[in-house]
Amino acid sequence: VSATSDNVVLVTGGSGLVGSALQHLIFSEPIGSSYGRKEGEEWVFLSSPECDLRNITQTQEVFRKYKPGKVIHLAAKVGGLFANMSSQHTFLRDNLLMNDSVLQASHESKVNKLVSCLSTCVFPDQVTYPLTEEKIHLGPPHSSNFGYSHAKRLIDIQNHAYHDQFGDQYTSVIPTNVFGPGDNYDLKDAHVIPGLIHKCYLAKQNETPFVVSGSGKPLRQFIYSRDLAKLFIWVLREYKEIDPIILSVGEEDEVSIREVADAIIESMGFTGPVEYDTSKADGQYRKPASNAKLTRLMRESGSEDFHFTPFKIALKESVDWFLENYQSAA
Ligand code: GDP
Repeated sequence: VSATSDNVVLVTGGSGLVGSALQHLIFSEPIGSSYGRKEGEEWVFLSSPECDLRNITQTQEVFRKYKPGKVIHLAAKVGGLFANMSSQHTFLRDNLLMNDSVLQASHESKVNKLVSCLSTCVFPDQVTYPLTEEKIHLGPPHSSNFGYSHAKRLIDIQNHAYHDQFGDQYTSVIPTNVFGPGDNYDLKDAHVIPGLIHKCYLAKQNETPFVVSGSGKPLRQFIYSRDLAKLFIWVLREYKEIDPIILSVGEEDEVSIREVADAIIESMGFTGPVEYDTSKADGQYRKPASNAKLTRLMRESGSEDFHFTPFKIALKESVDWFLENYQSAA
């Protein structure tokens, strides 16, 4: 008798940016549709107050309680550049412990599919672009977040070790820059889209200039959290490999920071002056990732109904969400 129920899907980090997009998807799509719940399937969204995943005993208890057959592991200690730089050991250890607890508890309770979430910052600092899946271990990550990056890279190693020795079906995904409703809007620590949404809102309220950091020239591939949620469902149901898969819009869909700022200005209806503070860092100019593997495998699996939401529409939805939830979000 299996210790797990194939009908139970457990999501760690269930209230974060990607976790809340998964909740939105699972509860809004019709049951039995491509990206909806299967008939009889139960989804459990865990968040940190319920279980400290750094603690293996607590984690094992949660797995005994829900008996998941499938797991989406999103929980992680995450933070911006400065948080990472000042706490390398915390980012390394908290993530190592969480990942080890979740993977080992999954193994012990015979979870039959586990999908973990990496990030493009796990790639080597010195690398030829575009980023592709097989390059993640080819050299040291950028020194600014080596703790986080090494902990995340190890998930891929663990996945292979569990598969090699026990046949476990554990895999990982690598999304590019994610944005969407329910992001972190902290003015200092947020990523560019939620940070600029918040700054533009304040500029409009206070009738002050909207100040964008850097030159506006860097390029990024942004993925909407609600599109990413669909891709997680596809990976859970269709993706068979242990090796990671990059989840991103195409290389032709890079967007400049200036385009981001302009789209926020338009969605927000801001009419005041805009300034680029070039005393602030631009960071990497670009770090394009290839989504060739994703598009090939989705085509092969017959998932032609998936389309990325156009950037401006996704951004407008994110701005509208922020305006409606300003009291609790900012
Ligand atoms: P990353 O550089 O891909 O790790 O992601 P970020 O979201 O932190 O930043 C991307 C780019 O946005 C960088 O070129 C920043 O200079 C630029 N940027 C402009 N204004 C802001 C801001 O208010 N917050 C952040 N985080 N980045 C900003």
